[in-house]
Amino acid sequence: MDAAVAPAVASFRDVYRAELDAIRAAGLYKDERFIHDPQGAEIEVEFPAGAAPKKVLNLCANNYLGLSSHPRVVAAAHAGLEKRGYGMSSVRFICGTQDIHRKLERRLSEFLGTEETILFSSCLDANAGVFEALFGEKDVLIADRLVHASIVDGMRLCKAMTDTYKHSDMGHLEEKLVEHADKRFRVVITDGVFSMDGDLAKLDEIVALAEKHGALTFVDDSHATGFIGKTGRGTPEHFGVHGRVDLVTTTFGKALGGASGGCVSGRKELVDMCRQRARPYLFSNTLASVIVSGTLEVLDLVSETTERRDHLEENTLFWRKGLTEAGFDIKAGASPIVPVMLYDAKLAQDVARDLFAEGVYVVGFFFPVVAKGQARIRTQLSAAHTREHLERALDAFVKVGKKHDILGKTKAEIVARYGL
Ligand SMILES: *Cc1c(COP(=O)(O)O)cnc(C)c1O
Repeated sequence: MDAAVAPAVASFRDVYRAELDAIRAAGLYKDERFIHDPQGAEIEVEFPAGAAPKKVLNLCANNYLGLSSHPRVVAAAHAGLEKRGYGMSSVRFICGTQDIHRKLERRLSEFLGTEETILFSSCLDANAGVFEALFGEKDVLIADRLVHASIVDGMRLCKAMTDTYKHSDMGHLEEKLVEHADKRFRVVITDGVFSMDGDLAKLDEIVALAEKHGALTFVDDSHATGFIGKTGRGTPEHFGVHGRVDLVTTTFGKALGGASGGCVSGRKELVDMCRQRARPYLFSNTLASVIVSGTLEVLDLVSETTERRDHLEENTLFWRKGLTEAGFDIKAGASPIVPVMLYDAKLAQDVARDLFAEGVYVVGFFFPVVAKGQARIRTQLSAAHTREHLERALDAFVKVGKKHDILGKTKAEIVARYGL
């Protein structure tokens, strides 16, 4: 080895090894588990690495409508592959736009009740591009304090002034709207459903406040599109403000088949401007045709019948009631994101590991994904779950809950025990 290079190499290894060791020592290391079959309600999971795959109930996917491996979606993807090929090897504005890209954009506008839509490779990319493309130094972005990390990043990339309001605190939001009355545009930014707590933004009040003060609204509906609202159009439908939100972003990587891809949808001029200016759109490859074909089929499926979202709602009610009656401390709400609060990071990891041994796949969430002292297991329901699946999962939760003596325990009791 070149002697002049060796010391530098050794030092970066030492720095990152020490940092990784510290993450492990704090019980915060995130291990990945290897799934050996398609995504679904029951999956074969290798955990720990090297162990024989084990069939477990899946309670941690964003597969809300159970469409990730749906035969019609898979068939549509196959057909799309045959008709439009595999890769486009181009960004959209050079030679990466097929007729089906335009078709999907129109279909999404129709589904979301918006004027225009632009596709991105992911919702993270949509959020990374949208603010910088549209807003600048004369404007202010006012975001709920619990918005998704990709919105935080997108705001950082934008030259507009940024501010926040306390989570779902409408009084605080109104103060901010008044405080920034001198700006060209004020943009109120929220998630439709908050991914870690599973609560819904007060979108009716947010839209009313924004309209009263002449501000714009932005909603990231990634955890809502396809299943929240009577016909699954998302939080604007749920709150009766369909068509009154200026900008919506969402993902195809969750309920809508779960492959990948996302979009910005909303007022025509805003979306047109994204097509001219959004950097992840201009400088990154087009959304793969096979995903476009699959997503088109998903939109047909969810438009034909509300059966899946209705079944998901029933599952959600059953699961929330079951956990509550068993004595678990869950975050109240109506979404299929049901966080079981454990507060301590190591406890969350231990409970998740024991549940895996009982055949239930869930993951402990802790800092930095949630605030310190707010560790939890985030369970997520799917229309693919049967009542029998959920009864089995509930039995496992009760067994493991008893082992760790957390049933019927208050937050104060758990916090005192772990000295948080
Ligand atoms: C999952 C999620 C994203 C990221 O979506 P991708 O398409 O996977 O990049 C963005 N925003 C919110 C609110 C999400 O929950």
